[in-house]
Amino acid sequence: MSPPSKIENYIGGTYRPSAGNERFETRNPATGEVLAVIEQAVVADLEAALESADAGLAQWRELTGAERGRILRRAADLLRARNEDLARLEVLDTGKPLQEALAVDILSGADCLEYFGGIAPAIHGDHYQLGANFAYTRREALGVCAGIGAWNYPMQIACWKSAPALACGNAMIFKPAELTPLTAAKLAEIYTEAGLPPGVFNVVQGDARVGRWLTSAPGIAKVSLTGEVGTGKAVMAAAAGTLKQVTLELGGKSPIIIFDDADLDSAVSGAILGNFYTQGEICSNGTRVFVQRPVLDAFLSKVTTRAERIRIGNPMDPETQLGAMISEDHGRKVMAYIEAGKREGARLVCGGRRATVQGCEQGWFIEPTIFTDCTDDMTIVREEIFGPVMSVLSFETEDEVIVRANDTLFGLSAGVFTRDLTRGHRVIAALEAGTCWINTYNITPIEIPFGGYKQSGIGRENSLAAINHYTQLKTVYVETGKLSAPY
Ligand code: NDP
Repeated sequence: MSPPSKIENYIGGTYRPSAGNERFETRNPATGEVLAVIEQAVVADLEAALESADAGLAQWRELTGAERGRILRRAADLLRARNEDLARLEVLDTGKPLQEALAVDILSGADCLEYFGGIAPAIHGDHYQLGANFAYTRREALGVCAGIGAWNYPMQIACWKSAPALACGNAMIFKPAELTPLTAAKLAEIYTEAGLPPGVFNVVQGDARVGRWLTSAPGIAKVSLTGEVGTGKAVMAAAAGTLKQVTLELGGKSPIIIFDDADLDSAVSGAILGNFYTQGEICSNGTRVFVQRPVLDAFLSKVTTRAERIRIGNPMDPETQLGAMISEDHGRKVMAYIEAGKREGARLVCGGRRATVQGCEQGWFIEPTIFTDCTDDMTIVREEIFGPVMSVLSFETEDEVIVRANDTLFGLSAGVFTRDLTRGHRVIAALEAGTCWINTYNITPIEIPFGGYKQSGIGRENSLAAINHYTQLKTVYVETGKLSAPY
């Protein structure tokens, strides 16, 4: 699938030219090549998207859950059937390695559509018997929801937001990140092909102005954002104006804690996956790796050997394991963090340089980078870098590492490696993080909730938990006898 040369907004089941005349280019981060010209949505387009979402909603919420589910599952099948083409498009747009996009990005989106398609018929309220009287709840759709995506997993994020929203009977207006506009539009085409009524899923393109409009528009009931903490705060403040519900999936600076009894090879695998997959551009990455003193040297030796073997290359090459940073700006930001690490006294044991890839000279490829001798106050230990940079910190005791691991404003994820499962559960219970793993890292199947504590977010995506965030309860009390009043 070659990318289209021009992308319009997708409104009411079809592409529509923008009412404005602002355009922007989207580029391949690895080569700098222009992939497509995108039409920026202006207010008239957004109003049209809202109008069409309202019209779609009227039709969609009348269907049974089984009927809605069938359409979502058909869309899942289409996604799976087009995995290869869509994965290539995702690689062009994001710079991530093809082998990852083929294995994860599109297929995890398909899993999500299938999951929520499967449970759509089972979304229901409850019955309460109250003597002779009774009450029941209706689990009703919220209305038109807005989804706003980040650039690291564009298709997966579009699926994670739209599938539960649609399964619950809502309509959605989705804004992909300006840097990665290609695959959300393809998802909209697939939904239409699967039989989704026009207007139930719309894609509006553009920068933060589009996001700001969506978060403040009175006709929108909810906004679900994946993005930075600062953006999350801005979204929440804007949503307060109309008291919209919010789900916020934000940044992190998560700990991986490796005890001296851990299976060290597994722990090294966890640290590698949790820092270098997708060039480190993953919110839940475990970028503060706490290693218990007795195994520090062994850990460093193993992790360095494996990090140095990671193949950096053209993202389209099936052998490539680490691709290009999303943009030059982001590449420079990551390099500035690496410089800060050196300046503040961390010891670089691996990587730390920009790499050159033949045929992709414009791309920002950064070597898998590992710092040790890190202290808790260093910039690289406190701030989210969103690149392939691991900070290794040593610790002595369980109590000490819990306090240090929790010493952050973030609370997205945490991992513990130990053969002592009693300790594993005890430590996880003490950690302030929403998504945790024991003896593995960054596994996020659709069946389990995903989301953060503290400033890493509000609400949960995936699993049955998402249903609560895309429905509201109406309680109905029914008097079965004659009603009397005291006056
Ligand atoms: P940003 O916060 O910069 O952008 C996210 C989205 O919000 C983009 O579509 C952006 O538009 C839009 N946006 C920006 N400002 C506003 C605003 N004021 N109102 C409404 N929308 C706005 O994040 P990035 O795209 O840079 O993604 C990286 C961040 O996302 C990292 O912090 C990462 O941790 C986090 N993330 C969190 C995940 C999670 O599930 N917890 C998963 C993946 C990433 P545009 O880009 O077009 O300007």
